[in-house]
Amino acid sequence: MAYDTDNIFAKILRGEIPCDKIYEDDWVLAFNDIAPAAPVHVLVIPKGAYVSMDDFTATASDAEIVGFYKAVGKVARDLSLVEPGYRTLNNTGVHGGQEVPHFHVHIFGGKPLGPMLTRSSFR
Ligand code: AMP
Repeated sequence: MAYDTDNIFAKILRGEIPCDKIYEDDWVLAFNDIAPAAPVHVLVIPKGAYVSMDDFTATASDAEIVGFYKAVGKVARDLSLVEPGYRTLNNTGVHGGQEVPHFHVHIFGGKPLGPMLTRSSFR
C-alpha cells in the first residue's frame, strides 16, 4: 500500500493539525490518543512516512527502528508506567483493525488492563 500523505498523523507531523504532545525527538512524536481507551493512552509514531508495522520493519533504516523503539520505552518510563506495568499494541492492516495508515504503537496504562484478547474474540 502506498503511503497516503493526507493521513491524520502525517498532518500532525507537518503541524497542520494539533496534538497533545508528550515527547518528541529526531525519530518520533508521541501524543495522547484523542479517544483514550485507558487512563494513559499514548501514541508513538515515527517521523518517517511508513504505512504500517510491516512497512516500517521492512523498509526503515536500522537507526530509525532503534530510535523508534528506544523512544517507546523512554515514553513509558517518563510516564512512570514501568513499575505498575503497561501494554504496547500495534494494529496492522484490516484484520489488525488499523484505522490510521501511518505506523504507530499504542501505550496503554494507568490501571490493570486485563487480558490481551478475550477468548470470546476467538471465533
Ligand atoms: P489504530 O486503530 O491502531 O490505527 O489507532 C488509531 C488511533 O488514532 C485511535 O486510537 C484513534 O483514537 C487515534 N486518533 C485518531 N485521530 C487522532 C488525532 N487527531 N489525535 C490523536 N489520536 C487520534
